[in-house]
Amino acid sequence: MMRTGLPRPGSGSRRILVVGGGASGVLLAAQLLRRDEDRVAVTIVEKGAMLGCGVAYSTTDPTHLLNTRVANMSAYPSEPHHFLDWLKRQGDADADPDGFVSRPTYGRYMGALLDPWSGGERLDCRRAECVGLDIRSDGVTAHLSDGGRIEADLAVLATGHALPDRRKDPELSQPWAGAEGPCHGPVLIVGSGLTMVDQVLSLLAAGHRGPITVMSRHGLLPQVHRQVAPGGWTPEGPPPVGRVSDLMRWLRAEVRRREDQGGDWREVVDGLRPQIQAIWRDMPLAARRSFLRHASPWWEVHRHRMPPSSHEKLDLARASGQLRLVRGRFERASQDTGGGLVAHVRGPDHRPADIRVARIIDCRGIRRDPEAHASPLIASLLASGEAFIDPLRLGLDVGPDCDVLRPDGSRSERLFAMGPVSRAAFWEITAIPDIRLQAERLARRLLDAVLT
Ligand SMILES: Cc1cc2nc3c(=O)[nH]c(=O)nc-3n(C[C@H](O)[C@H](O)[C@H](O)COP(=O)(O)OP(=O)(O)OC[C@H]3O[C@@H](n4cnc5c(N)ncnc54)[C@H](O)[C@@H]3O)c2cc1C
Repeated sequence: MMRTGLPRPGSGSRRILVVGGGASGVLLAAQLLRRDEDRVAVTIVEKGAMLGCGVAYSTTDPTHLLNTRVANMSAYPSEPHHFLDWLKRQGDADADPDGFVSRPTYGRYMGALLDPWSGGERLDCRRAECVGLDIRSDGVTAHLSDGGRIEADLAVLATGHALPDRRKDPELSQPWAGAEGPCHGPVLIVGSGLTMVDQVLSLLAAGHRGPITVMSRHGLLPQVHRQVAPGGWTPEGPPPVGRVSDLMRWLRAEVRRREDQGGDWREVVDGLRPQIQAIWRDMPLAARRSFLRHASPWWEVHRHRMPPSSHEKLDLARASGQLRLVRGRFERASQDTGGGLVAHVRGPDHRPADIRVARIIDCRGIRRDPEAHASPLIASLLASGEAFIDPLRLGLDVGPDCDVLRPDGSRSERLFAMGPVSRAAFWEITAIPDIRLQAERLARRLLDAVLT
C-alpha cells in the first residue's frame, strides 16, 4: 500500500527515483533495497492505487491466469522458489511450480514485495503522476501532478506500456479499463492474442450467451503450453542475424531437427529465449524492420502461449459455434442512428464490410506508436530532447545499460529506462523472467553510479 511523506534519508545519502510502480518499478526497487546499502534510498512515484500491479496484474478477475508457470515467476533470478514459497506462506500448501495461478494473485505477490522496507527510511512511495523531469549534470528534479517535487540523484523510467487514449476511440471497450458489466449481444474482439483470451474467458464466466467474433489481420491464436523438459535442445550453430529470411529458415530447421529427435518445437522457442536480446541487438535495422513486419506475428503466438485450461475453454466455445475467429482488418467504429454500434472492417479480400455489434473490445495490444500515445512525462522528455523514439517506433531509444539516449546519440548519465518502455533496445523485455534480470543488472549499475 502507498505511504507518503516519509523522512528523507540523512545527508550524504543518495536517492534513486523510480517513475512507475508497476512490476518493473517494484522489481527494480526491491533489487536496490535488498543490497542492504544504507546510503541509498528509493522513491517510487506511482499514479495508480496498487503498487506492483500496473497493467498486467491489476485485474480482479480470477479467470485471468498468468501465462507463465509459477516456477518461472519468482521476483528474483537468484531465488527461483521465491514466488512458490510465498504462495505456500499464503496457505496454498499444494502450490504447483508447473501450474498457472491467477494474475490477481501475482499482483498481491508484487504488492507485497516491498513490505520488508515499508515504514523504513530507505523507501518512499508517492501516489502521484510524474509530469516532468528536469535533468541536470548533478541530479534530477521530478515534478508531480499534485504540485510536489522530488530531488534525486538518478531517475529510472519504469512507465510501462503506452496505453491507448480512450478519448480517441470512445466506442471501443478497453480491456484495461475494468469490467463494464454484462453484455448479451454480439461482441467483436479486435486482436487475437493473450488479452483476447482473457476477455473471452471473462465473457464466458459472466454467462455471456451471444456470439463472440475475434478478428485479427493474420487470424492466428496463441499456441498452448505443454510440459516439456527444459534444456532438451542445443542449437547446431549460432542463429544467422543478418536477414530475417535466413533466421526463420534456421529456426524452422532447428524445430524439424528437434522434432526428428522426438522433441517439441516449444523446447526450441524456450531455449532460444535467453538469446533473443542479443539476437535483436545484433540485427541490422532493416532486418529488425522486416522481422516486425513479416515474422513477429508468428513468433509471438509461439512465444506467448496460453495455459492448457484456458485453451480448453476456448476450444469448447469454438466447437459450440459461439466463438469465431476471422481474418480481417478493423478500421473504425461508429454509432448508427438507433444508437447501435457498427464496426467498419475489411475482410481478407480487402472488401469493406459493416458489422453490427453490442460491444467492441480493443485487444490490439501494446504495439502502438509510443509518441502518439505518450504520457505528459514522455511527451515532455521528447520535447526537451532528453529522449527520443527509436526509428522503428517501439519505444524510447536506450543504450545496452538502460541509459536513455538523446537524439544526438549521447547517453544520459542521470536518466534510465527499463521494462517495456525499453523494448526498442531489448525487444524481449515484456515478461517477468526478462524484466527481473534487467532489474538485477540495472540495480547493480545504478548503485555503482551513485556510490562511486
Ligand atoms: C495483460 C497482460 C498479462 C501479462 N501476463 C504475463 C504473464 O503471465 N507472465 C509474464 O511473465 N508476463 C506477463 N505480462 C507481461 C509483464 O508482466 C508486463 O509487461 C510487466 O508487468 C510490465 O510492467 P511495467 O511496470 O513495466 O509496466 P506497467 O504494467 O505498464 O506499469 C507501469 C506503471 O507505471 C505507472 N506510470 C506510468 N507513467 C507514470 C508517471 N508518469 N507517473 C507515475 N506513474 C506512472 C502506471 O500507472 C503503471 O502502474 C503480461 C502483460 C499484460 C499486459
